[in-house]
Amino acid sequence: MTMSEFQPWWFADALAQENATSRPSLNDTITADVCIVGGGYTGLWTAIQLKQKQPELKVVLIEKGLCGSGASGRNGGCVLTLAPKFLTLKRLFGEAEAIKIVQASEAAVYAIRDFCDQYQIEAQLRIDGALYTSTNNAQSGAMDTVVDALSRARCNSWNPLAPSEVQKMAGSKRHLEGHFSPIAGSVHPALLVRGLVRAAESLGVIIYENTPMRRLHYGQPASVITQNGKVSAGQVVLAMNAWMASQFRQFARSIAIVSSDMIITEPCPELLDELGLQHGAAVCDSRIFVHYYRTTCDGRLMLGKGGNTFAFGGKMRAEFDQPSRYAPQLKQSLREFFPRLASVPIASSWNGASDRSVTGLPFFGLLDNQPNICYGFGYSGNGVSTCYLGGQILSSMVLKEKDGWGQCGLVSGPLPARANPLVGQYAGTQRDSPQRSLRRPRKKTERDRLLFGTICSGSGESG
Ligand SMILES: Cc1cc2nc3c(=O)[nH]c(=O)nc-3n(C[C@H](O)[C@H](O)[C@H](O)COP(=O)(O)OP(=O)(O)OC[C@H]3O[C@@H](n4cnc5c(N)ncnc54)[C@H](O)[C@@H]3O)c2cc1C
Repeated sequence: MTMSEFQPWWFADALAQENATSRPSLNDTITADVCIVGGGYTGLWTAIQLKQKQPELKVVLIEKGLCGSGASGRNGGCVLTLAPKFLTLKRLFGEAEAIKIVQASEAAVYAIRDFCDQYQIEAQLRIDGALYTSTNNAQSGAMDTVVDALSRARCNSWNPLAPSEVQKMAGSKRHLEGHFSPIAGSVHPALLVRGLVRAAESLGVIIYENTPMRRLHYGQPASVITQNGKVSAGQVVLAMNAWMASQFRQFARSIAIVSSDMIITEPCPELLDELGLQHGAAVCDSRIFVHYYRTTCDGRLMLGKGGNTFAFGGKMRAEFDQPSRYAPQLKQSLREFFPRLASVPIASSWNGASDRSVTGLPFFGLLDNQPNICYGFGYSGNGVSTCYLGGQILSSMVLKEKDGWGQCGLVSGPLPARANPLVGQYAGTQRDSPQRSLRRPRKKTERDRLLFGTICSGSGESG
């Protein structure tokens, strides 16, 4: 098995639990009905759903490292839905489509649970809900507008909690107010992605690891060229997430690559019990650069913060794959949220690259209008369950289903912020809030264009 020296905590933990024999790399010329590039949640859910729909398809997946070594094996594991982005969805695609997408993102949470049950994937999934809070007055009311809109559209799962209930559930007096939805939770992200690898193989997907795509030649069939091999495929699915913009320059301005930094404690189950943190709910505050945390099944606390490091033009920085240099600040945040945990040792810190789109929503399309090459990325830190929907969309696109998910609003390519006047202000927020859009009248730079549309306003975006 080829591994970089550094492994983020979750991924190392998942590999340690495997009988880790590496999958082969591709050293040959082969054919496939579908070649998927990228072995994270998106690529794997697409492969799985294709095989579930048409078992006779020959589906090949190539991954440049180990499956799950990208965002899927290192994220916060907060299982969230697109409901808090309802206003953006509605502005971009209309109310009916927005409701459909929100409901699909909620259904994905249960579909992942059912799939894990069916394929015996022990991913420590706990559907214990999500709590979106404010930790200062500036964040207050961040959820109100979107919750009102969801209620009017009769698809609201979020309820306000009394401050005392918020503090009890969040285990911290730092939280002033909050909304709770039961349709969310947390998972061990790397156990999930590695479980999906095994499930995909059991369905007949052929997987090559340590096999980066070097070039892609258009045509029918299209050719995916690797270091020592080639896949001639009727259809190609590009599921490369943050790497899309470096390999396909047309997307260089469609996403910003934004870090999320994490720390995880050593087990401290008694202290978590004392704090009332026996549950697996995801807790996110409403800071501009959001803090989020969740517990683990073995009694650790993981805390993350988005937005410390940015890269533009598709550049992938080395520090996206290293221990976090912001670990001291994260430890300080941990102490502020939980003074009782101040002396608990930190087991590990790490960092990862998230693909922030201009709208804060994932987008899908055909690469350069090639009818047999589709892509999907831009999850903007909200991909753990949304990638299941990504798999529904991409598998539907591959199969050219007439009324399937391949026709949904998200299949619009990268939308500019100006697709709607309001979106230019604060699209893609997890908590679409007009109050916030009034606050930033200044001229926008390139960094602003990408980020104020997404993470800067995106309180609650976990990654
Ligand atoms: C640190 C961090 C924390 C996050 N926290 C959360 C969270 O708590 N909740 C949430 O919902 N979302 C979170 N996210 C977002 C979520 O992890 C992603 O949206 C999701 O994992 C995306 O899955 P993916 O399969 O599209 O991408 P990835 O998992 O990144 O998969 C893409 C794969 O493509 C491979 N690849 C790239 N180029 C090539 C090539 N040329 N040839 C072959 N293979 C290639 C990569 O190696 C990689 O394995 C977080 C993200 C990060 C980085």
